[in-house]
Amino acid sequence: MNKTILIASGNQNKIKEFKNILPDYNFLSLKDLNDFEDIEENGDTFEANSLLKAKHYFNKHKIPTLADDSGLEIEVLGNAPGILSKRYSGKGDHENNLLVLRNLTNKKNRKARFRCALTYVNADGKTITFEGIIEGKIAEEIKGDEGFGYDPIFLIESENKTLAELGADYKNRHSHRAKVLIKFKEYMEKNESINNE
Ligand code: IMP
Repeated sequence: MNKTILIASGNQNKIKEFKNILPDYNFLSLKDLNDFEDIEENGDTFEANSLLKAKHYFNKHKIPTLADDSGLEIEVLGNAPGILSKRYSGKGDHENNLLVLRNLTNKKNRKARFRCALTYVNADGKTITFEGIIEGKIAEEIKGDEGFGYDPIFLIESENKTLAELGADYKNRHSHRAKVLIKFKEYMEKNESINNE
């Protein structure tokens, strides 16, 4: 059987992206294990948070585990919302997008990037962390209805479209998460068999 890996996330959109990009793995989600615990992500960086999530759920379930932590960094806002991306407005994704647009009113510099850290803990408890980035700009208005989070305001300049307009095919090839998952895949091909030993 292909290797079983736990994705330490409750975000169904993210889990779908993992499965689309790495179809050869047998992924389990926390929901599949009836694990609804939400641990505090109190690290200072994406890397620290992905490491603490991956270690916590590996120690709990004893299954090789992947955990990511990601978010939006906006240059003119000193890289905010950063690790606070999910909780930026204290409400939902739509309110987060409205708050970003409001905070960038009349701002010329709209440069932004998504950053993702992905930590893998293997069956021996060894950890490795990968990082991926996608560069873009904050759009002037909300556009598109695919994806999640800040996708409707994240503009890919070369396409003149937001990630929410470009959709899953584009994200699965170019996003911050796609980049870390491709790095992870290359690491696994070199270091671990795809089959459960
Ligand atoms: P996490 O689940 O702690 O990694 O929170 C990441 C937050 O960053 C999400 O709730 C989104 O607001 C934002 N985010 C991360 N990746 C993406 C993406 O691919 N598209 C849009 N927003 C994202």
